[in-house]
Amino acid sequence: MTTALSIPIVPVAQSKLKGLLLENLPFGKYFSDHMLEADYVDGKWTSVSIRPYASLSLAPSVAALHYGQAIFEGLKAYKDQQSRPFIFRPHDHFVRFNISAERMQMPTVPTEIFMDGMLQLVKLDQDWIPAFPDHSLYIRPLMFSTDEVIGVRPSDSYKFMIFLSPTGPYYSAPMRIWVEEKYVRAVSGGVGYAKAAGNYGGAMYATAQAKLRGYDQVLWTDPDEHKYVQECGTMNVFFIIGNRAITPGLKEGTILGGITRMSVMTLLQGMGLTVEERKLGMNEILDAFKSGELREVFGTGTAATVSLIKELCYKEEILQFDIKKWEVAPALKEKLAAIREGELADTHGWMVPVI
Ligand SMILES: *Cc1c(COP(=O)(O)O)cnc(C)c1O
Repeated sequence: MTTALSIPIVPVAQSKLKGLLLENLPFGKYFSDHMLEADYVDGKWTSVSIRPYASLSLAPSVAALHYGQAIFEGLKAYKDQQSRPFIFRPHDHFVRFNISAERMQMPTVPTEIFMDGMLQLVKLDQDWIPAFPDHSLYIRPLMFSTDEVIGVRPSDSYKFMIFLSPTGPYYSAPMRIWVEEKYVRAVSGGVGYAKAAGNYGGAMYATAQAKLRGYDQVLWTDPDEHKYVQECGTMNVFFIIGNRAITPGLKEGTILGGITRMSVMTLLQGMGLTVEERKLGMNEILDAFKSGELREVFGTGTAATVSLIKELCYKEEILQFDIKKWEVAPALKEKLAAIREGELADTHGWMVPVI
């Protein structure tokens, strides 16, 4: 590692933490004392600083608000059994952030700002990491274009920020899922593999329609045949068929390569399952359900970690599962939590100390 850039810090006059108990906070509603900010101007990153969390002042003409050059990340910090702060797989999130940046024709953010800045910010606000089971400090890096001009072209200027939100526990009830056959989230050659803001806005209508029908989320399918599964809402999806764990592959560029997905694949292999990354059609899923081979279905992502899927609605078919009998998904959830909270040895080097 190179020596960390020392980022100037303007501390808060008084912490908001006083009188706030970091227990059972809802996801994403409370923010810590400080945030990191950096500006990209004239081909260079400048004015990196950590300062009190506050609103921004932006011109209405700021390009990101119109044309959507905006990307983000989401990762978490935890405290181990000795109350030492750690971040889960930060480097993987850093790499993915810059993949998103490239796809959206935005500048990449150097490690001295993203990684060192994140470590310095979390270190400064480490008292905001809740020390209760299933709690964490959610870290939200983001970047958006800031040129003040009404014209469709990549901006010359950008803002990069990181802010923090204490949260947990994130209870995710077992989900009822609508297999979507009309609207699509991602196409081959599109931006599905990037954590680009527009992907989420674009998904909201179909999700709302599914909710009107009584479902919690949609299972996205391919744009041509509406046959091959992609993702479940904003989570990657796994199907356990016999002794195989199958998840859609990344080749077509329609799937967001989740860090939880990667971690879960490693843990599944450790549990003796065969992991397959490939195209998976609804016909194969239906056949496996009918033959009794489809054992478990679940989504994975940083916010909820592992979310059980108790029902799938596909055309006229309703696939219901007896989730009380499931073993793999609950075991994965427990294992991940134990590694993150320092109860289980981190043999994969996923936990990076905040020092
Ligand atoms: C963020 C995200 C995921 C999950 O990625 P993690 O790194 O596991 O949090 C999956 N799908 C979509 C569309 C996402 O935005």
